[in-house]
Amino acid sequence: MGEILDFAEALWKGETTTYAHHPLSEPYGMEKVARDTWFHKLFSNTIIRETPEGLILIDPSGFAGVKMKFESVRSVTSQPLHTAIYTHGHVDHCFGVSAYVEEAQSKGWPRPQVIAHEATPARFRRYRETIGYNQAINSRQFMGGQTRVNFPADFYYPDITYQNRLRIQVGGVTALLRHGRGETDDHTWVFFPDTGVLCPGDLFFWCLPNAGNPQKVQRYCKEWAVALREMASLDPQVLLPGHGWPIIGSDRIKQALEDNARLLEILFEQTLLLMNQGTSLDKILQIVQVPEDLLNKPYLHPVYDEPEFIVRNLWRLYGGWYDGTPSHLKPAPEKEQAEEISRLAGGADKLIGRAKELGQSGNFRLACHLADWAYLAAPDDPQVREAVHRIYTARAGVETSTMSMGIYMARAREVRGEGFEEAVAGSRVLQVQDERGRKQKQ
Ligand SMILES: [Zn+2]
Repeated sequence: MGEILDFAEALWKGETTTYAHHPLSEPYGMEKVARDTWFHKLFSNTIIRETPEGLILIDPSGFAGVKMKFESVRSVTSQPLHTAIYTHGHVDHCFGVSAYVEEAQSKGWPRPQVIAHEATPARFRRYRETIGYNQAINSRQFMGGQTRVNFPADFYYPDITYQNRLRIQVGGVTALLRHGRGETDDHTWVFFPDTGVLCPGDLFFWCLPNAGNPQKVQRYCKEWAVALREMASLDPQVLLPGHGWPIIGSDRIKQALEDNARLLEILFEQTLLLMNQGTSLDKILQIVQVPEDLLNKPYLHPVYDEPEFIVRNLWRLYGGWYDGTPSHLKPAPEKEQAEEISRLAGGADKLIGRAKELGQSGNFRLACHLADWAYLAAPDDPQVREAVHRIYTARAGVETSTMSMGIYMARAREVRGEGFEEAVAGSRVLQVQDERGRKQKQ
């Protein structure tokens, strides 16, 4: 086995964990993982299937590193690209086709075709409408506000779209494409019956499913579980996910897919039960729990997203934005609330003093409320700002997920008035997560 499969084996056995090696992080590399099948692990993964008529490429590249992806593919095969499949329209999956189109033109090969779900073009159009927002949230999520993420505006649209399922044949090789809502509304998972290779896209992530992302559009918890169970029923032999590393062997794959499904089903069932009883969102967030045995599985650690964010996404999908607390329906501006609380407490310094105590005792949820009020009530006070910076930095240091760490790191920078720095390679938040995970392991 090569480095990628060796690492995947170590991860499965618990010899290392996604706390020290985030599914979006290294080890990276290109490896042959099944007959005529290559797997390229990077921030997001590419699956390459050779056929006598040309390549089937699943997720050709993310929008960053297009040239490197192309060169990596060309280092292992010189076959023309026949068909590219986007597992979904997230920008870390649906780029890179232009390089193959140019190559085909220069070599006189037929133009490659691109297949995606029918909801993908609408996603691309939405990204153009919300480009500023997407830059802001991805700068927080992946960079902790340290550097700006340049979100793309131009997309290579699919030539062929489908609704529920599609069977394609390229050079005698059959690929089954199936739509399933989950991380997105436009997800496609792909199965190759001849090799037993399953490509679930981001429906399998090597960590807690990204079904809750606080800054992004709706995700689909229940349908996600349905898709995972359907995949498991096909008895796949090799699982090649959109992020993270392969899983080899039908028993392991079935277990991993079904555990992911069970986690999502538990969150769905508990949340809907309470919603149907008229419970407020605040109470639901206190009550709903995921069994520890699931969160301890090597492929379900909450290193990217968190269970409570999935509960909020369920509330948004099946309910409205009103959370059941009447004062939240038409609230006073936050600054007004903060000034009033500060007056009652005896000043912003009292609030920040208590916030520090709470932070030191580990109650960061409450500490950050007080810190926010102090900052809103006295935004120009340098001591308040520095204390708020420290509280949010400490909070980022104890959170497990990219989502939380990115938002808290960005807040810590913002209160110091620190803007964007020069762009650096890789994700700042993932680097911090992996460094901490490795230190804790030592
Ligand atoms: Zn992705």
